[in-house]
Amino acid sequence: MASFKCADIGMSCGFQVTGAKDADEVMAIAAAHARSSHGISSPPPDLVAKLKQAIKA
Ligand SMILES: [Zn+2]
Repeated sequence: MASFKCADIGMSCGFQVTGAKDADEVMAIAAAHARSSHGISSPPPDLVAKLKQAIKA
């Protein structure tokens, strides 16, 4: 199981992903969330790197 909290990458946001099967699934869910809630259509590489580090597998 993998999880992620938006707050862990410095967003003031209560969004979290829990129960995803792996980091790839977390990434997909987080990308959709970033687009719909933060207006980030294509996350810059530094944000992607931060996100990957914040995923707890
Ligand atoms: Zn968020």
